Amino acid sequence: MKRKYYSREVFVGNLVLGGHHNLLVQSMTNTPTTNTPETTEQIKRLVAAGCDIVRVTTATLKEVESLKIIKQNLSAANINIPLVADVHYSPLVAEKAAMVADKVRINPGNYLTDKTKEHYSNSDFIAAHQQITQNITPLIQICKQHHTSLRIGVNWGSLSKRILYRYGNTATGMVASALEFIEILTAEGFEQFTLSLKASDVRIMQEANVMLVREMIKRNSYFPLHLGVTEAGAGNDGRIKSVAGIGALLQLGIGNTIRVSLTENPEAEIPVAKKLLPYYNKEGVSSEALKKLSFHPVKLQKKIVEAVGHNKPLVVSSSGEKLADLHFNAGSLYLPSGKYIADSQDLKLTSIQSNNPGFESFLIDATVRFSVDFLKNGAQAILLENPHLNTSTLTKLSFDILQGLGLRYSKTEYIACPSCGRTQFNIMEQLKRVRQKTAGFKGLKIAVMGCMVNGPGEMAEADYGFTGSGKGTITLYRANTIVKKNIPEADAVDALLKLIKSDIQS
Ligand code: SF4
Repeated sequence: MKRKYYSREVFVGNLVLGGHHNLLVQSMTNTPTTNTPETTEQIKRLVAAGCDIVRVTTATLKEVESLKIIKQNLSAANINIPLVADVHYSPLVAEKAAMVADKVRINPGNYLTDKTKEHYSNSDFIAAHQQITQNITPLIQICKQHHTSLRIGVNWGSLSKRILYRYGNTATGMVASALEFIEILTAEGFEQFTLSLKASDVRIMQEANVMLVREMIKRNSYFPLHLGVTEAGAGNDGRIKSVAGIGALLQLGIGNTIRVSLTENPEAEIPVAKKLLPYYNKEGVSSEALKKLSFHPVKLQKKIVEAVGHNKPLVVSSSGEKLADLHFNAGSLYLPSGKYIADSQDLKLTSIQSNNPGFESFLIDATVRFSVDFLKNGAQAILLENPHLNTSTLTKLSFDILQGLGLRYSKTEYIACPSCGRTQFNIMEQLKRVRQKTAGFKGLKIAVMGCMVNGPGEMAEADYGFTGSGKGTITLYRANTIVKKNIPEADAVDALLKLIKSDIQS
């Protein structure tokens, strides 16, 4: 029998993550942390929605003080939900926050002494490792004293220059960064930590997590994982990306806590996350099964490529829907014109039949099942059937699932952060307007990000960036270059549209 592995156990306040424990659901506040009454009320709403752990922006010492007040407020209301201080940048803030919060989230790159250095010889790389160890030791001591756990939060878009120099912006780089911190923390005798490897690209996020679990198992140092897809956006597209990334990993036995990040009110994340709980494979993870996964599309047969005119995963319909690539009938595949193309066994087709009348539940189930089939069996096509949904809805959902997995782009692609206490403009409203005005630019990637601290790094793959740069102001980017700074938010969507149109015309 194949051996199954479970992560170690880590305490977060009064809860335990990992091992045989239940999967826990997290979210993050998006109110200014210094507005303690508003943040307390938002946490209460998250608790009422069923959230298990809440993360709070804690970027400054002032926000550490606010966190203390929020904790007291919650305690006075008999609410004991664990609070995670989202520190990111400052080691000093992390140390102070570790005296208050149940857990502190840090970004590994911020423990480098020189964050601007771009070239690393082997000896530089090793010297930096020693500096990181020295820089993080005070935090470890405080965590030990205060029984505070840590989350090592590695994000695809914000790897340190040191990691980028050696590994590039890759899943391998994310894993190298995480493994380095496992080595440093465990060498210091500290084992109360979790890790997260997040990316806005679903397959990079999946690949990084799978690779990390395999490496941790090999090293006998399997720590719990927090799963999430960053900048997933809003609405159905945001849900598809999150559940495609998280749901498939849960099915493989990976993940101990999850966050479905949406550019919506944080409370809206919880019901979606709760719908993922049944996909959690409590049997643990098999390292042999992980070895067989693939994150890249399998090529279609030549005769199919010639018939459909491309080599991307396909949408198949059983009801003669003209918008689909192929029509499936009695074991054969036809073009919308009715011309016979191939037998169904010529295509690795994921066929999902469901009687579920709830659209969101069907979306989640179809997305997770296709995502798992893609990883395990190299799914090349999707066929959705549900008597409660019309064929154009099913076809659209199929295309959206392929886009969510980054396999095939059939419309404008949006990357949008969920916002947090660092956001100083109405991101939900602006994202809605950006989507309305730019819906017709198929294949273009537009990022809508809450702040200049993390926004520019995490939208590095986008063609255009729309980033909060101050109170009610936006800075526009073309790829990684600033085009116009500090535009009042009321004018920023028109400015973006003008920029895109002038680029297309030139
Ligand atoms: S990009 Fe900035 S505002 Fe958006 S979630 Fe990240 S830190 Fe918060």
